[in-house]
Amino acid sequence: NIVYLNGEYLPADKAKISVFDRGFLFGDSVYEVIPFYQGVGFRLTEHLARLEYSLRALQIQTCQDWEAILNLLVSQNGGGNLSVYLQITRGAGDSRSHRYGDDLSPTVFACCTPIKDIYTAGPDDIVPMKVIVTADLRWHRCDVKSTCLLPNIMVVHQAQAQDADEALMMRDGKLTEGSSCNVFIVLQGVIYTPKRGSEILGGTTRELIMQLADEHAIPSQEVDIDYEMLKTADEVWISSSTRGVVPVIEIDGDQVGDGEKGPLWSTMFELFIRYQQKLMTG
Ligand code: PLP
Repeated sequence: NIVYLNGEYLPADKAKISVFDRGFLFGDSVYEVIPFYQGVGFRLTEHLARLEYSLRALQIQTCQDWEAILNLLVSQNGGGNLSVYLQITRGAGDSRSHRYGDDLSPTVFACCTPIKDIYTAGPDDIVPMKVIVTADLRWHRCDVKSTCLLPNIMVVHQAQAQDADEALMMRDGKLTEGSSCNVFIVLQGVIYTPKRGSEILGGTTRELIMQLADEHAIPSQEVDIDYEMLKTADEVWISSSTRGVVPVIEIDGDQVGDGEKGPLWSTMFELFIRYQQKLMTG
């Protein structure tokens, strides 16, 4: 297991960071998770654009050839199907202080874990999910992919305690997203998803779903979704880079639609497979 740390590729147990690193002390850092299939980054450009957005939002200044760093890390780990985690912290001072100067040098860390190629595996391999709905306890800049994930961890743990796979969150009566995914509902053949803004992360998979819906004349809309709308939806899906698009068949103990993977989900999953095949064959 080779990791990347500040310019070096080295075994994970040899990688060390300072106890004064602000990522460790304050969660003063941002991250990305990018799937690589057969050694090729899936929507790498979109992930790197979001990373630059997060870095700019927190005014963490670093200029790196991310693509070269990640491609080399993936090849050092044997290529194949890997999920790449990339984290950039503001850096380490010489003591713990909320304040920071402009002399810090950001810490850059990346590592890989093996994943399944969900698209090659096919729709029968996708396990539908059970979710709970709970309060969104996060800050108001969820568009920034920061490593301050305590609320996300708390809600997913709550889901786990209730025998569910994910927690969907609501703020001010409106659905936002899951602990590590975006949410979609289907009502009478129309795909709905919460509006993009500072209350949700602009998911790269969310964007792909909207793009594929557009290209294939499937009506889709960004709207406010309340609990009633969620509970009466014909289909509910979640989306994320490593999970793709996954049907939800139970919410707070109640069945969604007829309790099966929905027909529009099957269509969207099929479009994902075709999209990935096109990417892989150039
Ligand atoms: N929302 C949150 C809070 C996430 O953590 C993630 C990804 O991990 C997503 C949405 C989905 O984003 P993407 O599709 O780019 O993986």
